Amino acid sequence: MIDTEACPHGLMEEIGTLAREVRDVLDAGLPARQRAAGIHSAFAKRGYHALVVPRESGGRGLDHLTAGLIYEALSYELPGTLHGTMTTAHCALMISSGLTNEFHLERLEAIAGEDHPGAFCLTERDAGSDIGAVGTRAETIPGGFTITGEKAIAINHAIAKTLVVFATLPPASGRAALNAFVVDPSAEGIRQGPALDTPGMAGGILGPISFDRARVPHECLLGERGSGYLLFMETLDKGRPLVAACCTGEADRALDCAIDHARKRYQFGKPLYAFQDVSFRIAELSTRLKAARLLWKDALERIDRGRPFTMEASMAKLFASSTLMDIASFALELTGYRSVGRNTELERIYHGARLMKSIDGTEAVQKMVIASQL
Ligand SMILES: Cc1cc2nc3c(=O)[nH]c(=O)nc-3n(C[C@H](O)[C@H](O)[C@H](O)COP(=O)(O)OP(=O)(O)OC[C@H]3O[C@@H](n4cnc5c(N)ncnc54)[C@H](O)[C@@H]3O)c2cc1C
Repeated sequence: MIDTEACPHGLMEEIGTLAREVRDVLDAGLPARQRAAGIHSAFAKRGYHALVVPRESGGRGLDHLTAGLIYEALSYELPGTLHGTMTTAHCALMISSGLTNEFHLERLEAIAGEDHPGAFCLTERDAGSDIGAVGTRAETIPGGFTITGEKAIAINHAIAKTLVVFATLPPASGRAALNAFVVDPSAEGIRQGPALDTPGMAGGILGPISFDRARVPHECLLGERGSGYLLFMETLDKGRPLVAACCTGEADRALDCAIDHARKRYQFGKPLYAFQDVSFRIAELSTRLKAARLLWKDALERIDRGRPFTMEASMAKLFASSTLMDIASFALELTGYRSVGRNTELERIYHGARLMKSIDGTEAVQKMVIASQL
């Protein structure tokens, strides 16, 4: 069970109200775009996109550990609905790290204080785990840049009001060429592709975005020229334990469903829980869940105390996402035919678990990071 005592005072009540609002949006049968926008808006009203952004930039100024507790509790209450919120929060983290001018501050304040979804535009057909292969190019022109390239998949692509776009900027080469740009999606030359129909993303929308000589002013460049790679790594390092917290929230939900079912369901004259094959698996998965939670708490505490956290962040994400996958799969198996069908909660958590494995880097990427730090 989620540690509700650990959440700041009054927050569980706020999360309860939010959960009701989000469920109303989910039940309204809206088209994907309106549904994603409605859910984003419910989170935005409460400042959940800028939990760790300093108060002077309009954020809630919370420490990272508290943000993790909040994301975990939200994921428990609202599994599969946080993708859009996490993406906007990643954009806020990134802009906050690279902030160098008024335009960046304006965008950050909008994300923090208004209903202003962000999209993180990195992945391309040939650049997934290998971000050094980004082919989107920026060219310097008088007053700014043009951006040209195709981003394969971005959460919030169709509802975003700010894009964080990664592109190379000559004459630099290699990692030094990678830059991040804070871009208004209404700029000429930017086109959002059709949304993907993605099981496991109850509240989100995602799809491709293309840039055809899109003109952006020079203040769009985030951070120093050539800092895109470092900004990206810093954002992901800080974001991974928060994604891990979402994983344990969803895993906890699935495990609670499994335990409840194992206690109520009788076969061969006994509740399923009375069979050690079932209760031992529950015991093992509960232990892994607790370990997963301790890992992300450790990583977030390290961030808050100014200690190194890169390796711990990847360990937390690696362990939490595989724990979620295994718990979701077990819960689905244990509940039998009751979880068959796209719209059951456990089916959604299971499909969501598969997506969580890739978000913020696949298992192989987390292992590369961990190995590089040992
Ligand atoms: C639901 C969802 C939402 C996403 N949202 C966004 C978004 O908002 N913005 C964005 O920019 N991107 C987004 N992505 C993309 C995501 O970041 C990529 O899927 C991820 O970086 C992996 O890239 P890829 O899918 O091209 O897989 P690849 O990099 O092609 O990897 C395929 C497989 O090969 C393995 N692999 C790769 N390299 C190695 C290696 N060196 N050693 C061993 N194994 C390796 C990987 O672990 C993986 O299992 C999203 C993805 C998903 C699933």
